[in-house]
Amino acid sequence: MAALPHRPVGPAMKNGFRLRCPRCGEGKLFSGYLTVNESCSACGEEFWHHRADDAPPYMVITIVGHIVVPLLLAVEMAWHWEEWQHMITWLPLTALLCVILLPPVKGALIGYQWAMHMHGFDPTDAEHDPIPPSQRGPKINPPASYQSL
Ligand SMILES: [Zn+2]
Repeated sequence: MAALPHRPVGPAMKNGFRLRCPRCGEGKLFSGYLTVNESCSACGEEFWHHRADDAPPYMVITIVGHIVVPLLLAVEMAWHWEEWQHMITWLPLTALLCVILLPPVKGALIGYQWAMHMHGFDPTDAEHDPIPPSQRGPKINPPASYQSL
């Protein structure tokens, strides 16, 4: 069995963080806010093998928590804000940071999975599916009794 080609992790994650193809850094990784393109429009690299799942939100919660909580504590210790002042400051900031960080963090994770040949990015892996999602048929066939209706 031939060894898989080496893919540098850092540049792949950096390209993903910039919402670009982990391989070439040119094509767009996303077609919507978090919808991943099936493949790169510039180099043709297949993206549908990613399994980001719910890891990006976990990472974003951790990152945002490490930004907002120290700021909140520092402000409280320095100026003793009223509760309403904390509410109108930290809740919108938290929501805004989450919305801003989610796509780049997901992109970086996809870049990591691509560089490490994880999941379907390894053509020898059982998870590798050579058929893009848009060309797959329905996963579950309805029971025969439903088809006669
Ligand atoms: Zn590309």
